[in-house]
Amino acid sequence: MSHSIIVIGAGIGGLTAGALLACRGYDVTVYEQARVPGGCASTFKRRGFNFDVGATQVAGLEPGGIHQRIFAELGIDIPPATPCDPACAVFLPRETEPIQVWRDPKKWQVERQKQFPGSEPFWQLMAKLFRASWNFQGREPVLPPRNIWDLWQLISALRLDTFVTVPFALMTVGDVLRLYGLANDQRLKTFLDLQLKLYSQVNADETALLYAATVLAVSQAPQGLYHFQGSMQVLSDCLVEALEKHGGKLKLGYSIEQIHPQNNRVKQVTIRHQKTGETSTETADHVVANVTIQNLIKLLDISSSLFWKLYQNRTEKLPRPSGAFVVYLGVDRQAIPDNCSSHLQFLYDDNQPISENNSLFISVSEPGDGRAPNGKATIIASSFTDPQIWFHKTPEAYQALKQQYTSEAIVRLSSYFYLTPDTLIHQEAATPCTFARFTARDKGIVGGVGQRVSTFGPFGIATRTPLNNLWLVGDSTHPGEGTAGVSYSALTVVRQIEMSE
Ligand SMILES: Cc1cc2nc3c(=O)[nH]c(=O)nc-3n(C[C@H](O)[C@H](O)[C@H](O)COP(=O)(O)OP(=O)(O)OC[C@H]3O[C@@H](n4cnc5c(N)ncnc54)[C@H](O)[C@@H]3O)c2cc1C
Repeated sequence: MSHSIIVIGAGIGGLTAGALLACRGYDVTVYEQARVPGGCASTFKRRGFNFDVGATQVAGLEPGGIHQRIFAELGIDIPPATPCDPACAVFLPRETEPIQVWRDPKKWQVERQKQFPGSEPFWQLMAKLFRASWNFQGREPVLPPRNIWDLWQLISALRLDTFVTVPFALMTVGDVLRLYGLANDQRLKTFLDLQLKLYSQVNADETALLYAATVLAVSQAPQGLYHFQGSMQVLSDCLVEALEKHGGKLKLGYSIEQIHPQNNRVKQVTIRHQKTGETSTETADHVVANVTIQNLIKLLDISSSLFWKLYQNRTEKLPRPSGAFVVYLGVDRQAIPDNCSSHLQFLYDDNQPISENNSLFISVSEPGDGRAPNGKATIIASSFTDPQIWFHKTPEAYQALKQQYTSEAIVRLSSYFYLTPDTLIHQEAATPCTFARFTARDKGIVGGVGQRVSTFGPFGIATRTPLNNLWLVGDSTHPGEGTAGVSYSALTVVRQIEMSE
């Protein structure tokens, strides 16, 4: 008889784990509280426009990339996608010409040498660390290890070249900038802060060096970022197709309310039908939770277990995660300047930390990419915000704050795009409260656990939990956020479940 699996959540992490487990012969049911799958990588439609809720660009589609490998195992085609080149056009404060993060490594080298003279030794070190880390990750280490099998997977992934990274394992990007005498290069520092914040949640001074080496290099060939044709939804749609093709089930509109433990294992889960409010309980051999670690500790109450208490304590002590404020604009194509890149980043004030709503990461649809009707385009702009400021407000105060953030974002966008009452067709915004409601993420936090030295790699959040048959997938776990990152964590859980049988 095949073993039964309950997956909590149909984000990219949960769907990937569910589809792979179904493909490997398990009896899988995925419960998703929302009415559509995909979580932070889903899409909504308004007046003929398709808006990507959060994720807009994807890594890991190249041959040997994590999505490509998983799609090959699942026996489904990768949906059509176009490479992002440049991956991003970065505008620093008071500058009108962007730093273009080109896809071609040679072109990017010429660009960075022009933009940041004297910094090449730093980039060469990053490239060396990237090659070693990328090869290591490709051999599927389990990080952080929690038992002998995990440790063996980790040891088996080590090669001579991995040891190049060892002296740098406890360093941050800031440490290496100091080592190379670049700590006072404010332009370079600001550029790195901006780019790293997107992936690691923290700035250069705090980002773990080995994590930075990877995220700063994935934009270039032979890796590279891609834009799906149609919308981000195609990624989850394909994973749902694979799940169902291999006999798995997806139940939309069902929320897991509680996980009940017994003797260090999950005994059953309580499921609530969102529409009717009816509850039921289900049992399974394994439960895979595609939720944030902050959500996971709320789903269980095991005050008697010492291990669980330690797990809870660590979660509570994690640095405060970030939230996102996002504006979604449907515009006439005339609003888009000529030669506009599909992804842009703007910093507005370098005297403030980047987390204080003073930068925008912007994604613009391309003609014919399926996101907007003919002659129209979508502009999606997100900034970092402290989730705390959005909750526990009167409805009037909340709406006023949302309006203030929206107006500020539109004023800022107007300095680059031609936004007028004639070109602006549709506008709406999402706050941490919106993310909390639609993705059920605790306090609307997004992007996972910041990749500081203390929370990366061997010190990161494990996919194993203190309960033997409860697993955590998604952007709280190693190797971090993004659809590619959560797919690695899903693959790790699938291998761990297989080995535990
Ligand atoms: C504004 C923004 C921009 C981003 N841009 C990019 C980008 O360009 N590229 C990129 O790769 N990544 C990007 N990311 C990050 C990326 O979207 C996420 O890291 C990734 O999608 C997270 O996937 P996940 O599976 O871990 O979690 P989620 O997407 O959060 O999925 C979890 C799912 O579980 C469901 N759920 C939660 N609790 C329960 C419960 N109790 N019962 C049932 N269901 C439950 C939720 O509804 C959700 O569907 C961005 C994120 C944001 C917010």
